Amino acid sequence: MFFSLKAKKIPVPPFVQEIAAVFQEQGKQAYLVGGAVRDLVRGKAASDWDIATDALTGEVSAMFRHVLPTGIKHGTVTVLYKGRAFEVTTFRTEADYRDGRRPDTVYFTANIEDDLARRDFTMNAIAATLPKGTLVDPFGGRDDIAKRVIRCVGVPEERFSEDGLRPLRALRFAATLGFSLDKTLLDAIASRLDVTARVSWERIHDEFEKIIMSPDPAVALAAMKTTGLLARILPELAACVNVEQKGYHQFDVFTHSVMACAYAAAHNMSQTVRLAALFHDIGKPLCARRDEQGIWTFYNHERESARCTRKLLVRLRFPSAVIDDVVHLIEEHMFNYDESWSAAAVRRFLIRVGEEHLSALFALRAADSFGTAGHAPPPGFLAAFQQKIDLVRAKSSALSLKSLAVNGRDLIALGIPAGRRLGVVLHELLNAVLEDPALNTREKLLEIARNFV
Ligand code: ATP
Ligand code: MG
Repeated sequence: MFFSLKAKKIPVPPFVQEIAAVFQEQGKQAYLVGGAVRDLVRGKAASDWDIATDALTGEVSAMFRHVLPTGIKHGTVTVLYKGRAFEVTTFRTEADYRDGRRPDTVYFTANIEDDLARRDFTMNAIAATLPKGTLVDPFGGRDDIAKRVIRCVGVPEERFSEDGLRPLRALRFAATLGFSLDKTLLDAIASRLDVTARVSWERIHDEFEKIIMSPDPAVALAAMKTTGLLARILPELAACVNVEQKGYHQFDVFTHSVMACAYAAAHNMSQTVRLAALFHDIGKPLCARRDEQGIWTFYNHERESARCTRKLLVRLRFPSAVIDDVVHLIEEHMFNYDESWSAAAVRRFLIRVGEEHLSALFALRAADSFGTAGHAPPPGFLAAFQQKIDLVRAKSSALSLKSLAVNGRDLIALGIPAGRRLGVVLHELLNAVLEDPALNTREKLLEIARNFV
């Protein structure tokens, strides 16, 4: 596509033009706004479609067949059209943010310029006329996009006093777009921490998740640290700043954690691994002890880290399935394989970790290793362990109670009562099979079980 940041127009997709025609037939204005305009100006594909209009929500609802009442109070409905969702919002100005969380009152207005003035950043305060795509850019958003800088619309301190989520949105956009942060904006974050501290955890969750899933979470985390936002939102991680560690470690616990997370992001690892990488050592400040030589030790920090992380992720409103997986990885992150591990030890490890978590745990180890040494782990640094695992897997047929050659009913038939006792015997049999897979036949296991009757 031939395209220039100086262009005064953006290409408007046909389905957006079709929607706009419906507004026009009713004598209503319609502009494309928000992230789609920003992304099209950058020459990128847009995915979510926000439309601003002078029509009221009732009028919009009458214009289309499929409309959801997303946020009537704030003037927003969602129009479903040809398999796409359009957020349609009545032009508005906002006032009376009493608590820095949400506007108490929304005032509707007749023109797009007022509507753009209440938006957060200049790059997000550009509108495109429809159907042509001519840009309305009263705050120099295009220039800032060309300079790749995030700048507030208006005075940053005032804008952050209105809505404490905006600082976090600024850092999120820095991480997702790779833009720099205007200096006055950064200073204003530091001076309005009290407002951000009052934002709901649900809203913080959404921005934090986008930061973690971005290509560059480190840039946002570093800015959180220098502005003081970190201490307000993630005090457990802030407590890791300047916590020294020795041995192979090159960095303090905070830097180590951020680098591990950055590595996970750079290698497109899952959300679970990225979160585990960021929080796997978060219990270290609580476990720090000096040994006789005066060297810092962190015995059992994986357990403390797991406990802390569970609390923190619950507070940050992550779903419990995600929390369970992250906490499990953290609990298991200290495995220390060497050639002396017996086949039985490998099997016990596999059972404890769960085969389905193995690749995530190895990914976490790679990230951890990067955060320790400051360079990528050598290729195949877990290869010996992986080979041993493959070997053990190929040989053993019983890695869980389910794959034992006998089941609970067989044992009850032997005269072992159902209940706790039965469970104990089954686990004894599993242990026996872990030590010697050849025992996993019905005959041999029943023989062992008879000893328990
Ligand atoms: P993306 O959808 O890619 O995350 P976006 O810019 O579309 O980015 P949304 O959260 O969808 O972000 O918001 C749409 C638009 O609404 C923004 O571009 C901005 O103009 C405005 N906006 C959103 N949140 C705020 C806020 N807290 N304060 C001021 N304006 C906001
Ligand atoms: Mg959007």
